Amino acid sequence: MKRYFTALHFVLLIFLANSTAFAADKTLLRCGKLVDVQAGRVLSQVDVLIEGGKVAQIGSGIVSDAEVIDLSDKTCLPGLIDMHVHFTHQSNPKSYMEPYVLNPADFAFRAVGFADITLRKGFTTVRSLGDRGDGTVSVSLRNAIDSGLLQGPRIFTAGKSIATTGGHADPTNGANKVLQGNPGPKQGVINSAEDAMQAVRQRYKDGADLIKITATGGVLSTAKNGQNPQFTEAELVAIITAAKDYGFKVAAHAHGAEGMKRAIRAGVSSIEHGTYMDDETHRLMKQYGTYLVPTIMAGEFVAEKAKIEGYFPEIVRPKAAAIGPLIQASFGKAYKAGVKIAFGTDTGVSAHGDNAQEFALMVEAGMPAMEAIKAATVNAADLLGASDSLGSIAVSKHADIIAVDGDPISNIRELENVTFVMKGGKVVEL
Ligand SMILES: [Zn+2]
Repeated sequence: MKRYFTALHFVLLIFLANSTAFAADKTLLRCGKLVDVQAGRVLSQVDVLIEGGKVAQIGSGIVSDAEVIDLSDKTCLPGLIDMHVHFTHQSNPKSYMEPYVLNPADFAFRAVGFADITLRKGFTTVRSLGDRGDGTVSVSLRNAIDSGLLQGPRIFTAGKSIATTGGHADPTNGANKVLQGNPGPKQGVINSAEDAMQAVRQRYKDGADLIKITATGGVLSTAKNGQNPQFTEAELVAIITAAKDYGFKVAAHAHGAEGMKRAIRAGVSSIEHGTYMDDETHRLMKQYGTYLVPTIMAGEFVAEKAKIEGYFPEIVRPKAAAIGPLIQASFGKAYKAGVKIAFGTDTGVSAHGDNAQEFALMVEAGMPAMEAIKAATVNAADLLGASDSLGSIAVSKHADIIAVDGDPISNIRELENVTFVMKGGKVVEL
């Protein structure tokens, strides 16, 4: 008799242990409001059941043994996605000295902190578009986050950007001749179609998820021109051809129209910045389905810092003053022309954690709040090629969900003060 009860007790314990473990893996969010980004509307009183890190059910009055999180006084949204960040740096007056005084571990450790603050501000996914150091910090960071060792957003990384000699993202620009050496495809500097192929394959070997090229001059590089085309058509075609073999999309930094047009025709997936777009650029982007990632914040930031004596090297300062203030209006025109927009900030120019300030700049330029939110959710997921798992609160997608206290549709700045963050079903401490 005693033995019988012991056995029963044992079975009961196992049952309880199992059901407790199962329930702990289940969470029920009771959202007062929920932004349905796919339909472009706000729903009231929506419950979201999360199981195994994914959305299992959406509805009202869901009954479950799951742990309940009461968000009934908040508005829930999909986790935000920033398509253009740099975790290895953040602008400061000594930025231009960093390649000579910092070690790879310095770049790596700061990236850990920047990734953490990014997630805590509601950005559950980012695209990393160019690392300093050896160009693979964000690859290692992505892996450490994915394996649960560190806290941060999901990272899709390009590793080191691909440039041409003296171009934007040639890591030896501005160095004295002894230190310049001759960086080649391994370090992302190419000068032929063959080099281009090698550089793409090197990024594959490094563990990148996509390719970033610098199709024109840039503002912050130690070089005279911020908008000249810097790749030949043959080089661009080689990059796209090689990238396709590895399932890579290609993001192109571009300010000047000629470099943009070459990149669009070659088949890049996005134009970053897009400062000097003209009508033909808009037409080409619509024809090819190319996204614009505006990065208005970066423009505002560099224009402001250009006013400070000594913040930038003198060769950079006039470019920052000229190009920076144009990006917001250029974005407004592209949006009105019907170009597809995905949210991106170029954070690392401005401070990590401030990413959501971009929304107000988009709205100010003429984009409705709902469209700006779509740019940072459904559109961004589409550009990542991850629409099946990211970009909206939908059954079977990752439970990447944030909430704000107010109404982000009537006041987009609410997104600058996120009060709840969940990534993959786990609540993030803010
Ligand atoms: Zn950038």
